[in-house]
Formats: sequence, C-alpha cells, structure tokens
Amino acid sequence: MTASRPEIVAAPDAIAAAVRDARGRGRRVGFVPTMGALHAGHASLAAAAATACDDVAVSIFVNPTQFGPHEDFHRYPRALEADCRLLAEQHVRWVFAPPVEAIYPPGHATRIVVEGPALPLEGAIRPGHFSGVATVVQRLFQLVPADRAYFGAKDWQQTVVVRRMVADLGIPVEIVVLPTVREADGLAMSSRNAYLSPVDRRRAVGLHVALLEAERDWSTGVAPEAIAAGMRRTIEAHGIAVDYATVVDPESLQPLSAPFASAVALVAGRLGTTRLIDNRLLAADRRPGAAP
Ligand code: AMP
Repeated sequence: MTASRPEIVAAPDAIAAAVRDARGRGRRVGFVPTMGALHAGHASLAAAAATACDDVAVSIFVNPTQFGPHEDFHRYPRALEADCRLLAEQHVRWVFAPPVEAIYPPGHATRIVVEGPALPLEGAIRPGHFSGVATVVQRLFQLVPADRAYFGAKDWQQTVVVRRMVADLGIPVEIVVLPTVREADGLAMSSRNAYLSPVDRRRAVGLHVALLEAERDWSTGVAPEAIAAGMRRTIEAHGIAVDYATVVDPESLQPLSAPFASAVALVAGRLGTTRLIDNRLLAADRRPGAAP
C-alpha cells in the first residue's frame, strides 16, 4: 500500500480548525514540531505519534527567534519536498508549514522567557535561544491544539524547558519524549550533520564515545566531576572544541544533590562552524551501592 501524501497547510486558522474538528469527532491528535530537513530521528517521533494517535500533525518551521545573530538560520537546510515524502511513509495527516509572518505577526513584541532549567548550558552559550524555542512552541501549541506532542531526548535541555513551560502556563498537552536515533557509528542524527566535511564527520563520533565512557564510569562509581573531565579529554582527543561536558540532575540541570540520584551527561562541541550536542541518561540503579 502506498502511503498518501500529507496535506500541506500554511494558514494558522486552517490547521487550528482541522485539528479542532478532528478532536471534536473524538480523534486523538499527535503533534511533532520540527524545523524540517527531516531524518530518521524525526521519523521515529512521527511513527510513535501515528501509533498512539488517530491523526498526526508535523510542523516544519525554521524558527528565526531561536537562532543567534551569528548562527546558521540562513543556511539551515530546507527540504520540504523530501520531508513530505518521509512523512507520507509515517502516515502523517497534516504538515503545517507556515510563513514567518503567520507565527510572528508584523510588529510582534511578545516573547516567553523560561528561567531555571533554561539558564545553564545551551542557555548560557546561546543567549535568547530557549526564549525563542519557548515562544514558538507555545504559539505552535495554540495553533495545533493536539492531545500529545512528541520531542526527542537528543535535545534534552529543550525537553526540560518545554515541560517546565507547559506546567507553568497550564497548557493542556501531554509531552512525550523519545530516545535519540543514531547513525551506525553512534553519532546522534541531526539536520546539522549535513554540514560536516568527511573528516569532521569521522571526528564527530567523539561526542558519543565520551558519553559511553561516562556511562561506564558512572557504573563503576567515578565521581561526577571526574566523569565530566574524562568526557572533555575524549572529545578534545577527537579534534572537537568543547563547549561543555557535564553531569547534572536530569530535571534541574544543576549539580547532583544526592549520591545515588539519576543524572544526565550532556556534551556540546564544535567542528569547524558546526555545533553538535548529545547526552545520555545515567540511571540511579546503575550506580554501585544503589538500592536494588
Ligand atoms: P529539530 O528539527 O532539530 O528542531 O528537531 C525536531 C524534533 O526532533 C525535536 O524534538 C528533536 O529533539 C527531535 N530530534 C532531532 N534529532 C533527533 C534524533 N536523532 N533522534 C530523535 N529525535 C530527534
């Protein structure tokens, strides 16, 4: 059976009406926000949404407000045709691809600012990034009033920030976070991997290698600071410039408060002009001495 092409919707009123109508008829709607240039990681979110929901909407919007002035907004890959083919295979019903003015009306002057978990790490290195993310996600949740929204654990801090905002603003949507999909060598799939030269592509696996070492060290009782230092050495040894390599509380993103709490190892690095991030959850029950 060939999957039918999703309906491409550009108008905010049209997508909102379609989703409300479906839900009014008792259908469960899943939503996957993306910036396009889709890969198997995005496909896994759409597939999970299609399994759990009756109808799936995927937004494709390269959000200008989450890019810094010297970041890659203009060269960010755009591939609507190929994206729609991939989404057809996942039985997506609607692709919401609005123009910038539909999300940010002329003269727009309102932004959402999340503090707490949005402040360290990506928030410190990319000022305004999470404000841009929160602003667009809130707007998208308004326009696509779905039952559930799907996000990838690859952007761990983003999932924490979005869940914080949804709780704080009382947005009626269930947030689902799914595991990171990886290339054969372990590199986390990312639309930005397309920027890498062949040499840098081989080096990029250093982030994943460092996280595997962190997981091993975690399970042998190595202290968080020593794990972080080890990750930094491994990433640098692969020729990657380290932005950060750290082990923190998975919810607050602050230093660990209890010896046997679970943790997340987070890394960010640069290869030439390409910036990559990755992370790995470190389970409390893998720590030696933890209660069985
Ligand atoms: P983006 O298009 O980069 O904004 O990502 C859209 C969604 O796809 C976000 O929730 C990402 O976390 C998720 N995502 C990106 N890469 C992956 C991946 N390799 N595996 C799973 N989810 C991903």
